[in-house]
Amino acid sequence: MEKDTILVVDDSDIICSIVKGILETPSLHIYIVHSGEEGIIAAKKLHPTLILLDIIMNGIDGYETCQILKSSDETKDIPVIFITGNNDSDSVLKGFEVGAADYVSKPFIPEELKARVKVHMQNIKIQRELQFLMKELKEMAVTDYLTKLYNRRYFADQLQVYVTQYMLPIFLLLFDIDNFKKINDSYGHNAGDMVLVTVSNIFKLLLREEDILSRWGGEEFMICLPNISEEETIDLANKLRKEVSKYTFNCDNNTFQCTITGGIIKYDRSISAEKNYSNVDQALYLGKSSGKNRCIYNDPILESTN
Ligand SMILES: [Mg+2]
Repeated sequence: MEKDTILVVDDSDIICSIVKGILETPSLHIYIVHSGEEGIIAAKKLHPTLILLDIIMNGIDGYETCQILKSSDETKDIPVIFITGNNDSDSVLKGFEVGAADYVSKPFIPEELKARVKVHMQNIKIQRELQFLMKELKEMAVTDYLTKLYNRRYFADQLQVYVTQYMLPIFLLLFDIDNFKKINDSYGHNAGDMVLVTVSNIFKLLLREEDILSRWGGEEFMICLPNISEEETIDLANKLRKEVSKYTFNCDNNTFQCTITGGIIKYDRSISAEKNYSNVDQALYLGKSSGKNRCIYNDPILESTN
């Protein structure tokens, strides 16, 4: 685990060594500087967990140092505890006004200093955990739990960004795994899940960074391809289809293969997204009804099984 660092900014050597003596433990690194200017540089470089900051120093004082720290994105979230000889209410209040989280008065009572530092370190840890959870939640809201692909809602939002912000041609591909129910019935739901994940991975490998790949629902995948020609789209669709059909699945001592069918359309900006979805669905339906394992480009309809 990463060691926590406390940055101590105080122009007095004696104060610094007292603080170090009280707080230092094997899991806590104490870094000392003697001016506000050095403190700002060290805070940006070290990203300490906490800063203990003296108020009265030569050069910029503690209040100004704190204001500078709080005005920078890099350092604004690091809690600052003022070290003050002035525990009159005005200077304490001023400390809070410039963004301090707390203060400790000199001379230190070791147990008090330890306790205050501990509380703020714990708060920081809780905050970090919350941020991590928030990030996970955000990801969960836009991705499919099984394949980790974007979900339908995120796809629709991103597609709108492409449609409205760029004037480039956009193509939509809608793929469906052929006879998926039969795979589940014959080899079990683990096999079905494995097929979904593997097909997702094959797509991810072959698609470009700017393409949006989503699990559209059940065993359907919707792909948005921006800035690409009709010919390249059809080639890419068939490449995806062929790669899937070549793959041998292995699950619970069963080996099997599967195929996919794809619908392709050029996105039409003059009609709604819903209408475009329904057009690509129509192309997919044509592929299904004409024998599966093929990609159908709708309007003009070109069938491709080569
Ligand atoms: Mg001082």
